[in-house]
Amino acid sequence: MRPEDVLLLPFVFAIGAVVGSFANVCIHRMPRGESVVSPRSRCPGCATPIAASDNVPILSWLLLRGRCRACRAPISPRYPLVEALVGALFFAAAFLHGFGPLALAGAILATAAVILTATDLEARVLPDEVTLGVLALGLLVAAWRDLPAVRADGLAGFAGHLLPAAAGAAFGAALVWGVGEAYRLVRGAEGMGFGDVKMIAMIGAFVGPAGVLLTLFLASAVGTVFAGLPALARNVAWSISCAAARGSAERASREGRRRGLLLSPDGEVRAAGGRWLEIPGAVPEGSPIEAAGPVARPVVAFARLARRRAAAGRSTAFGRLAVEDETGEFFRVLAARGGAVPGGLLVLLSRVDVPFGVYLAVASLVAWQWGGRALELLAAGLVIPGRSLLP
Ligand SMILES: [Zn+2]
Repeated sequence: MRPEDVLLLPFVFAIGAVVGSFANVCIHRMPRGESVVSPRSRCPGCATPIAASDNVPILSWLLLRGRCRACRAPISPRYPLVEALVGALFFAAAFLHGFGPLALAGAILATAAVILTATDLEARVLPDEVTLGVLALGLLVAAWRDLPAVRADGLAGFAGHLLPAAAGAAFGAALVWGVGEAYRLVRGAEGMGFGDVKMIAMIGAFVGPAGVLLTLFLASAVGTVFAGLPALARNVAWSISCAAARGSAERASREGRRRGLLLSPDGEVRAAGGRWLEIPGAVPEGSPIEAAGPVARPVVAFARLARRRAAAGRSTAFGRLAVEDETGEFFRVLAARGGAVPGGLLVLLSRVDVPFGVYLAVASLVAWQWGGRALELLAAGLVIPGRSLLP
């Protein structure tokens, strides 16, 4: 990178933050089946349209201290985080690959990875507009990179990038679809959704067939590690929480609000945290937990059991609760622990379902950036020197 190009990097970050702002619109609206173009952004709390001056990426959220100007409802920190993350990924793409189609490809894949991570975590949805749209963009950028070769050699020039990109998309889709079908035939249950097939096809258009294998390998490895580590971290955090909550009724309330619920001895919600309140039909503080709606029933049943066990002197209980509404739009798998504390029963809740799309998104970026080098090392001596294994 030339010294004068370095001066452009802050602008690249700013462009990325603006794209991140659009990514936020996609993350919020696409799983709900709403248009991402109109109407203009509104506060989800009071529906007041957001003024352009209050829609500056990152800065507006900081200036408004994370609250709507009209109704003061809190605005999720996800908004500035996504904007900063996409900005940083644009910055990294330009810093590592200069200003050209390769950096553009990286920026597009990174933006898609951020959107799909968020929609998969929040709504278990991988929108077609993102997976198929970005698949098409990946093929276009690959074709663009081939243009000089095409001018020199004719259509054979497309063998450089477009052909491996198309092969990667087809191979990825066929592989994941085939594995899913095999799983379905053997186990009689859905192994992978069709969204995963389209997502790996999209990734394949950026990393090629060898990169697809690397992405799937990395995603499985990351998934294994990241399923184990949070379990460990959760148990430590919960033990600290329980110890703190045993100190006083006030502390018990605070831990309940932070990590789940605090119930009075007769089953009234004394303190309610986000993990509880996000469940459709959850009751607020001051209501009996038994009044919660049908979706929250697994947690209510768990609390009932934990209360009985606490009354018998057994202070803890573990569970793994699937909480789902009829449409499947809300879905969480929660780990739960209940224990007697001053003022009642402390119920700790934590999410344990991280969907595979999240691992695929992370793995695809690693494979895109470092996969070529890794594959060259693995296949040292087997590949023609100077010829990259990724498109
Ligand atoms: Zn508002």
